[in-house]
Amino acid sequence: MDITQLELKEKIQDAELVLVGIGEACQYDWNVLLQDSRYREIEAETEGDDRYVWIAPFLQKMILRRGREERWDRAYRMLGKILKGKNYFIVSLCMDDYVYGGEFDETKVVSPCGGFRMMQCDKNCAGKLTQMPEESYEAVMRYYRGEMPLAALEEPTCSLCGEKLRFNQLGVEQYAQEGYLERWNGYTKWLQGTVNKKLCVLELGVGMAYPGIVRFPFEKVVYYNQKAFLYRVHPHLYQTGEEIAGRSRGIAENPIDFLVSLEKYSI
Ligand SMILES: [Zn+2]
Repeated sequence: MDITQLELKEKIQDAELVLVGIGEACQYDWNVLLQDSRYREIEAETEGDDRYVWIAPFLQKMILRRGREERWDRAYRMLGKILKGKNYFIVSLCMDDYVYGGEFDETKVVSPCGGFRMMQCDKNCAGKLTQMPEESYEAVMRYYRGEMPLAALEEPTCSLCGEKLRFNQLGVEQYAQEGYLERWNGYTKWLQGTVNKKLCVLELGVGMAYPGIVRFPFEKVVYYNQKAFLYRVHPHLYQTGEEIAGRSRGIAENPIDFLVSLEKYSI
């Protein structure tokens, strides 16, 4: 038995509140697409042609719709088990939407980097999100299946201004924060309620991609709350600051593997 897993289990059971950060080391591995020969053909056909860059995210969406990959699915299921019955909040930096297929209360999840659930105007002309046009998705699928030529594909556009329509995620020209702000407000309110409470903070694969969203604020929360304890799981950026040395533990592991490993501990 591994002491760390058992200790984590106890700490979470004992905590009044649990704060979870999911970071880039948990991000679904899109290289899976490269194992698909049709995808490789498409890459070769569209390479270097700016008119077709929009197709790739639709193919990622296709992978997400096909079903959940077992390793990720087990990891998120375990996280759901750990959090069952607890008062928790999850901040996820991943853009793969895996956190939304888990068994979590969605009102307790915020993903400030966006994902594939909604689309937006590239310029965010009206400050709102829109559903993915199924006909665009279907057209890409037909092209993928070889039933339609590349030249027949048309990039979806904003119905208001005619700009490109893109998935609501960081990287678009004017990222529409409307996709997460309301939930973020809920999160900050929840955070205020953690003061002086027994709080267990679990960071899963949060590196330095956006340290201002999870890593630094989480450290600060633990620093100020003497009853808080931080677990930082990351393959190499697992170190925790000296000022919280007694109330934190770094775990040098891949976060997805770590979650899966908890299956052995009948949590
Ligand atoms: Zn627009």
